[in-house]
Amino acid sequence: MELFLITCYLLNLSATGALAVLGYPSGITLQLLETRYSGPRSRSKSSGSPLLLYLTQRGGGGGGAEGKENNVGNNNPAAGLHNTSACTENENINHTELPSDYPRRKDVMVALKAVRQACCITQALQPMGPPLTNSTSTSRSCSATSRSSSNGGNFYVANSIATVQKADLSPVTVADYAVQSLILHTLQKAFPEDGFIAEEDSDALRADEILCQKVVQAMIGSSLTRDDTLNSIDLGKSYTTWTTRTTTANNNNNNPRPRRVWCLDPIDGTKGFLRGKRSGGQYAIALSLVEDGVPTVGILGCPNLPTSDDRDLAWDDNETDENNTDKRGCIFVASRGGGTYQLPLLPLSRSVTGPLSVTPNDASTRPISQGRFCIGVEKSFSDALGQTDVMAKILHGRLDKDNTILYAKRMDSQAKHGVMARGGAEWYVRLPKSGYREYIWDHAAGNVVIEEAGGIMTDTQGRSIDFSLGPQLDERVNGILMSSGGTYHTALVKAFAQQEKERGGEEWL
Ligand code: AMP
Ligand code: MG
Repeated sequence: MELFLITCYLLNLSATGALAVLGYPSGITLQLLETRYSGPRSRSKSSGSPLLLYLTQRGGGGGGAEGKENNVGNNNPAAGLHNTSACTENENINHTELPSDYPRRKDVMVALKAVRQACCITQALQPMGPPLTNSTSTSRSCSATSRSSSNGGNFYVANSIATVQKADLSPVTVADYAVQSLILHTLQKAFPEDGFIAEEDSDALRADEILCQKVVQAMIGSSLTRDDTLNSIDLGKSYTTWTTRTTTANNNNNNPRPRRVWCLDPIDGTKGFLRGKRSGGQYAIALSLVEDGVPTVGILGCPNLPTSDDRDLAWDDNETDENNTDKRGCIFVASRGGGTYQLPLLPLSRSVTGPLSVTPNDASTRPISQGRFCIGVEKSFSDALGQTDVMAKILHGRLDKDNTILYAKRMDSQAKHGVMARGGAEWYVRLPKSGYREYIWDHAAGNVVIEEAGGIMTDTQGRSIDFSLGPQLDERVNGILMSSGGTYHTALVKAFAQQEKERGGEEWL
């Protein structure tokens, strides 16, 4: 793949075509400014050096609405950053947002402050999305109830958003690195004994000083040096040196797995982040504390998520970072035994909602035949074989006229878990390609958020998920089902089994 791209470049072939091969859909207008090899990234299954791409909108940076409104359209990744002072003056917030007896209050407050600061940084970095047009409806591929294409809708990569293509072909941006560095640095200072598991490592940055400087510049409000930035990112891979997989008391190992481990996906749903604001692209900064193998704290920072589910995921034409703070940006906070809360992105800018509750799970307010799905945009991640449509037909009794699910919201990331925790949908199904082994950072924070709101997360057989194994879940977890619990979960597990039977697929044992 990498050779193919380089060949395209050398032969002066279309960069857009090359990007399409890499999973970026056609129809976007991108210009490949520069290609070069970065050093190898030490990801699992990594085979060789990833290609480093700098992408820009062709003709971008010009005037008109786009030039004016796209606040990431220059060389300073943090230009146009709004609300920075409010976010970084976090010190002064009064800590009345959560109950005074909230479990693990100190852990939650430290983590919340870091996530909030990271949210502000990513909010400024998220691309605006497709340019304004007279008719924007067709571009809003991931708004509620719309049907995703197999590639999940349009990408629009803003000026100066540097995107590294990972070995597994998923993108990683400046924002991913900045968030991981900032959050792990804060947590390590506060809790030096704790361990970390996080998605990124610094290899690509160490191999490319320009990209590295973009990350350092993006970390507004932090005083981290270049080296601190890189070393903090790499805390996320410290688990590779643990001599035990699980916590073991009184053992003779030098470096056993710590009892407390923070798991971080700095930008869960990077593809949603890159879809941009006008496409309603969702992403989440997903942080959890796992104690003795059990997720006990879950925080989901969702900077682009509307505060209520009747609002459109996509930005309207008049929306700006400055005028949308009362209707967009949520942080879901959950601690075992203390409930799930929805907090505003800016401290004290809006009231706190909570404890949140899922839809009453005796189906008294919404019958099974009208249960709502909240599912991913990327079909290959969450519904590789189209099984969810079959399940929906079983549960709803029929499909919509165009053979789509009757009640479905599609969005990237664990923002879905927040939406379900506040009663915005009843069912979540994630059925990746067979052989895909799930990572803990894609589920642990969401697990606490949904369960503390009364919902449930299981494998496809209805069994609870084991989070004690390290960076990946058990290889036998071949799908995740989540729901408001009770009647809804019983029906969902049954629908999966029936779907498997109809499909003639092998039952997972
Ligand atoms: P979602 O937004 O719910 O579709 O899930 C997004 C997450 O899926 C990303 O943050 C990745 O960690 C993860 N992911 C990446 N590649 C794959 C894949 N091939 N299959 C399933 N999940 C993936
Ligand atoms: Mg993820």
